Amino acid sequence: MCLEYGVYVSRFALPRCTQRPLRHPGLSNPTARSWLWSAGAIPRVSSWITKKTIFSQWRPSSRPGPSPLKYFGWTSNISTTRTCLTVRARSALADSSSYSDQNPTSLQAAVEAGTSLLVVKSRFLDPALEQILGLKFKAPYSATDPLHTTQPHFITRGLAGQKMDPFDSSWNFSPRLWVEPRGAEVLITQDSHPILTVNRPAAESSAIWLGVSNLSDLRDAPYWRGLLFRSLLWSLGYIVVPNIDYSHRMEIEIDDWGTSDKGYLSYWRYLEPSEETLREHLIVPLQKRHAVVAANVITGYVDRKTKRILSPWNQKFTDLYGLHQDYGSTQRGLQDAVAAGVLEIQSHGWTHMQPDLDSPPGPWWTADLAGEASADGWYTEFGDPLRGKESPAIVQLFRLKRSLDYLREDFGQRPLELRPGGGTWSKSQFNNMGIVAAQAGFGLCHAEPDFYYYLDRDLVLDMTGISPHFTTSFDRLDALRAQMSRPHPDGPVMMVFHDRDIALQPDFIDRLFDALPPDYKTVSANQLIGYEHAQVDSESADGWDVLFNYNEPYCQYFRNHGSSWTIWLSDSLRDKLQSAQDLVVSIDGKQLPRVTATDFVRESLEIDLPPGLGSHKWNLSPVR
Ligand SMILES: [Zn+2]
Repeated sequence: MCLEYGVYVSRFALPRCTQRPLRHPGLSNPTARSWLWSAGAIPRVSSWITKKTIFSQWRPSSRPGPSPLKYFGWTSNISTTRTCLTVRARSALADSSSYSDQNPTSLQAAVEAGTSLLVVKSRFLDPALEQILGLKFKAPYSATDPLHTTQPHFITRGLAGQKMDPFDSSWNFSPRLWVEPRGAEVLITQDSHPILTVNRPAAESSAIWLGVSNLSDLRDAPYWRGLLFRSLLWSLGYIVVPNIDYSHRMEIEIDDWGTSDKGYLSYWRYLEPSEETLREHLIVPLQKRHAVVAANVITGYVDRKTKRILSPWNQKFTDLYGLHQDYGSTQRGLQDAVAAGVLEIQSHGWTHMQPDLDSPPGPWWTADLAGEASADGWYTEFGDPLRGKESPAIVQLFRLKRSLDYLREDFGQRPLELRPGGGTWSKSQFNNMGIVAAQAGFGLCHAEPDFYYYLDRDLVLDMTGISPHFTTSFDRLDALRAQMSRPHPDGPVMMVFHDRDIALQPDFIDRLFDALPPDYKTVSANQLIGYEHAQVDSESADGWDVLFNYNEPYCQYFRNHGSSWTIWLSDSLRDKLQSAQDLVVSIDGKQLPRVTATDFVRESLEIDLPPGLGSHKWNLSPVR
């Protein structure tokens, strides 16, 4: 997606979806293409970046406005459903009265060729769009009447069961769009105003208009999130998503292993936990709960004595406060935890400190620890709050590569997740930390409260807002329930604490889990990244193939772990499957029990794949 007005893009967060239609035994092609069109879909600088377009077309602040991903709640739907075959979108001045710099008539051709269109909160002021949607924009309006379904339909099914039909709109005075049906079917109305309409502009395509008043509702409001998902499903025929209940999952990370400051900073001093402490107070409590957490490790120890960056793991000394530090023991404890399967090694950067420790207001090396040397800004690595500057991209890249190299050397691990030390990052076009981390090969990078990016070789995608994202600590556990209270169906809670919590309160991990809702489980960083980066594809071979590609490094988790997916089916596809002859399912060529019509009564099927990198194939074909 590009950020220039009026330029077509070929990707909308489903970077690797295929455009190929599906073919089934005895089935016609379900619609496998869809476009999304939305008002206000002009992304903000740091929120929507593809490296392919950034240099030629990226216009920082070309228009203030919210990130489409923050809005299209299906960020995660997208990231988790990258498989959802082929949602393409246009970044366009979608709601202008003039589309002179665009070519909406090309949409007409796309629709005729089987591409479906979703239009969200837009006046679609173009005759071609009006025709595709079977609608005409009349006027803006405000009303607080409840929203009602008008007829049974796949898209609105389930609303009544969830007590969302009628849907209360009291106190929602937001401006809305009044549209007049000209061929479209109205599925939801607000008094005389259509709220959701569907049209069939061509035999194999659909055009849906969603009159949501706030785009963020598509992500945050169960009513609208459900309608968007089912609209997509109805348009596409099927959607593949990870079979993980993210609403009861959390990704837990422990920061600051290996930093030097704990030996000399008055306000952040503690004993780096030893091998024994880690065995008893990290490994055992995690094993007891079948939990896996991440250690965000620093491999560059900033040594004030020698004014050099050293390996932390050789540091054995008595610190300024009389504590006997033994970082080698800590390293062994972390290695034991990795071997026990309860810990993943991830990156916290290289040194957790400013790359430039010499210039004013430094040199930091010799500055007074009771004064300048204690200033918080020294202890951030990927931005420079001390000097009010960013960190140059090349400097960031150097440090990220150092981190990757040394973590491999010290732990034999390949980190995929980055949490920048001090939670500071550079945001501009050329120094954007997300882009640099993607270049270095990370798959996820985050810093609470508002930086949470999916990364791959082509895409830096802002997922901020899909789930709660916070730091906890031994003296702040009271806030935990409130911090986790927001629903998060599309991504796990992202929770951070520090090695300090274990140092100052050895039973911290027990206390933390005791304070958590009992139905929460962990998802590991590598597992999450594996699902987000899996490439799901479809092929018409002998029957219907769904291909799952797990490539390194992003999907390394699946080398030794199985994976599970859910395929959601639209009614039309389900009907066809139910009426088809007996079918058999095979996974990687191994036949499973025969599938009968009753297996398609439900709206979804589960696919369990065995461990192993590379390609897995799920195939559905007629019994021979
Ligand atoms: Zn830190």
